[in-house]
Amino acid sequence: MVHSSPAGRTKTLSILGSTGSIGVQTLDVVRDHPDLTRINWLTTNRRIEDLERQALEFSPKGVVIADQQSAETFRANTRFKGRILSGHAALEEAAADADNDLLMSALVGFSGVRPTMAAMNAGVDIALANKETLVSAGEPMMRAAATNGINIYPVDSEHSALAQCMVGESSTAIERLILTASGGPFRRHSLQELQHATCAQALKHPNWSMGSKITIDSATLMNKGFEVIEARWLFDVDAARIDVLVHPQSIIHSMVQYVDGSVKAQLGLPDMKLPILYALVAPERVATNFERMNLADIATLTFEAPDYERFPCLRLAFDALAAGGTATAIVNAANEIAVAAFLQEKIAFMDIPRLVDAALNKIVNIADPSLDDIFAVDAETRTFVSSNIQA
Ligand code: NDP
Ligand code: MG
Repeated sequence: MVHSSPAGRTKTLSILGSTGSIGVQTLDVVRDHPDLTRINWLTTNRRIEDLERQALEFSPKGVVIADQQSAETFRANTRFKGRILSGHAALEEAAADADNDLLMSALVGFSGVRPTMAAMNAGVDIALANKETLVSAGEPMMRAAATNGINIYPVDSEHSALAQCMVGESSTAIERLILTASGGPFRRHSLQELQHATCAQALKHPNWSMGSKITIDSATLMNKGFEVIEARWLFDVDAARIDVLVHPQSIIHSMVQYVDGSVKAQLGLPDMKLPILYALVAPERVATNFERMNLADIATLTFEAPDYERFPCLRLAFDALAAGGTATAIVNAANEIAVAAFLQEKIAFMDIPRLVDAALNKIVNIADPSLDDIFAVDAETRTFVSSNIQA
């Protein structure tokens, strides 16, 4: 079913990470709403067959393949007639293209920092999925957004919910943010069981289908910790006024409590296409044929407090945010290396918080860091954690 656009003009959209979970769902939304956007650049790391299909369907100006070897294979075989760039610097070129109105930032991890910053410095608005960019470099990114007059539209379902709850409200009226969490696949596991949690178990998220890195982050609750940090930067609300609430049904996507005690929530079935679409058109709304929620069928919404003992990653993220400086960049880099090792079955599930904690204790925190400081700390942390895994 094809839907017409709202009153606004067609936006020129580039997607960093178009072959990933968010990238593919963004293109699903674009396909269903052809008047909303025109695709400018698409990018992948290695999934060149998917990129080929996307490029032939959406006819972008060009594509970027970050991995050089994959780029050579692509060039030798493709039927795509547009520009073909390769390497990480080319991601920045695509992100900062003067024709972009909006960049969907949907790489995974720290790899998104440079291209997302490049887009901001070129005056391109951001639809932000890649939360690790704000976890690592929140202060410089928000400064770049303010300096360049950039709008950041959150794609993360919780932050989209918060933004939707804030429409028409004054920021000074916000008392608390309440981020909901499904609790992940191990919500009912004992600490003992968590020691033996396998990669296959961790990859089975109860409510959402996502890329492997964020799925593991959801199992450790590091993802929720990252979302607290993301909310702190996006909405300028300090950590003491951000709560995490476990809500296993993932129907309430988050809530805002106001100074008069009123609480606003945004509800919906768990489907990333809604926050993706909202990020493309906010603050407008467009009609969709997305499945509608039936609360009588759902019947029960439940809530519980998070358990910081079984899920120490959540506490580590809060602690790093309180410490400030480069602490959150250390947590992010350590977590990226630890999660990659867990996915390769080199370490146990509970080694992830152990390695993050060790990195926080070892790497010196730099106050008021520049972007260069953050890159240096990121590299130092990766080396430290990698050497701990090999040992
Ligand atoms: P995926 O792993 O599914 O996709 C990541 C995309 O980025 C792919 O296109 C991938 O290429 C590309 N990529 C990965 N690493 C690099 C790199 N080093 N250089 C260049 N390109 C790279 O991730 P998701 O779509 O699940 O997540 C994207 C971001 O959105 C993450 O930050 C995540 O936390 C966030 N997010 C995701 C949600 C979801 O539902 N998936 C929900 C909320 C937030 P290739 O295909 O070759 O691997
Ligand atoms: Mg989320």
